[in-house]
Amino acid sequence: MNFADLGLSEDLLKAVDAAGYTEPTPIQAEAIPAILMMKDLIGIAQTGTGKTASFVLPMIDVMASGRRRALMPRSLILEPTRELAAQVAENFEKYGANHDLKMALLIGGVQMGDQLKALNEGVDVLIATPGRLMDLFERGKILLSGCELLVIDEADRMLDMGFIPDIEFICEKLPENRQTMLFSATMPPVIKKLADKFLSNPKQIEV
Ligand code: AMP
Repeated sequence: MNFADLGLSEDLLKAVDAAGYTEPTPIQAEAIPAILMMKDLIGIAQTGTGKTASFVLPMIDVMASGRRRALMPRSLILEPTRELAAQVAENFEKYGANHDLKMALLIGGVQMGDQLKALNEGVDVLIATPGRLMDLFERGKILLSGCELLVIDEADRMLDMGFIPDIEFICEKLPENRQTMLFSATMPPVIKKLADKFLSNPKQIEV
């Protein structure tokens, strides 16, 4: 399997080449075409399998066209920790350097000023931890009704950290006809229930 067979744009194939990747990992080979076809997805995969690029690469292509609007991020990636959120942001910077995509990080422990400014200017990809996102949502500083794509990453860690009620709250604020991807290293019953409730006819990939 080659990256060129997965349906990514020429620009992204160049970015993949520049990163030094010669072939897609198993999760990338299955997830990238499915995400480009706008399917919902459950990825049962650990860190280290190339799972981040499996959603970041197709998201860059999916987000490449469309208009930004103030306070209304076009896509949302939920991460359990600030460190993971920062890593995903680095991936967008690495692979999306040739794209005009606006990204913002919404994490706790840092001042809100820059985050609010970014939201006001319009964001294509918002990478957030649930706590800070809930905080801004409740203050009316962010609207989730324009979010056409959602990634719930590391769902089992979200569960360990007590974030499931926050995730349910956030999912309910997003439009119903969005595309949703959920990644988790394991599938405990609570996560299975979450997926049943918020994903629609998902493709399941286990690596
Ligand atoms: P992740 O599972 O997303 O944490 O990625 C683990 C590591 O694998 C990261 O350092 C990536 O840069 C690297 N990586 C991702 N995709 C590939 C690939 N197709 N070939 C080689 N390395 C990769």
